[in-house]
Amino acid sequence: MSSLLPRPRLLVLSLGGTITMTTAPDGGIAPTLGAAELVAAVPGLAEVADIEARSPMKVGSASLTLENIAAVAGEIRAGFAAGMDGAVVIQGTDTIEETAFALDLLVPGERPVVVVGAMRGPQQPGADGPANLLAAALVAASDAARGLGTLVVLNDEIHAARFVRKAHTALTSAFVSDMAGPLGLVAEGRVRLLTRLARPALAFDPGTAPLPPVALIKIAMGDDGRLLRAVPDLGYAGLVIEGAGAGHVPGALAPLVGEVAARLPVALASRTLAGPVFARTYGYPGSEIDLLARGVLSAGLLTGVKARLLLTLALAAGADRAALAQALAAYE
Ligand code: ASP
Repeated sequence: MSSLLPRPRLLVLSLGGTITMTTAPDGGIAPTLGAAELVAAVPGLAEVADIEARSPMKVGSASLTLENIAAVAGEIRAGFAAGMDGAVVIQGTDTIEETAFALDLLVPGERPVVVVGAMRGPQQPGADGPANLLAAALVAASDAARGLGTLVVLNDEIHAARFVRKAHTALTSAFVSDMAGPLGLVAEGRVRLLTRLARPALAFDPGTAPLPPVALIKIAMGDDGRLLRAVPDLGYAGLVIEGAGAGHVPGALAPLVGEVAARLPVALASRTLAGPVFARTYGYPGSEIDLLARGVLSAGLLTGVKARLLLTLALAAGADRAALAQALAAYE
């Protein structure tokens, strides 16, 4: 990079996760490091950008809430308004597939937001955090990543928030985008974007209000529907069903799914986690044609956890059934 050009300005926010974890008194690892310490530990990072490092949280990522991520999105929007060129969010890998998609829905505009974590703690041999953080910063600072919304960078691969998924508990290659593959990679310190995705024009800003609860149920073989039956009386504002295959439930459950869908919005995703929910192929009881005819909305290409986030934010924005269907259809 030419020394005559001003360096990009990046906001780096750390929320915790393995990348921040050191040995705790009980022998396990727990979040202790903050963004400034992580940034300082990466050789070469200071040359990539001028970094403002903040550590709003230090938690395992299973403890993050959508309200937390809405607050992070607010901080990023404010940072962008103040002239930051990009943002990096450091957190645990367990929920990156959710938080990244939420940020994609919550931070509009051209400037890159990159979510990053690590599969190995900083004290482990072969710790991947520093390399991941450097790659994430390179992507967040790059012009090529502008307009792609929120991205996830691990293992030198660049993933779109809407497709990325954690597919392994241990490997540094845990992150996949089964639907489309990664958008690109970082090699030799260079950001190479090989594919560009059009980004649906959806943007939400729920403020600080509590968000409506949306349930997620995975349907298993022989499911007798007792959980499903309970959902409408538990105070949920919506439900996502992860059906088998292209969006199927046991035939005996189909009338119950229809009864629940008459009381609250129900979206149908696939528990296979890749490929679209079908719309016009199978016609038996409990099939996608049957369920859609009973008032269920298709989650399209979204996995269950991602459809749940979209439903939550759309419901918080006051979306009616038609608006919910339209929001989900943006991802078909
Ligand atoms: N195993 C997790 C991680 O990779 C823990 C977490 O998600 O916080 O960071």
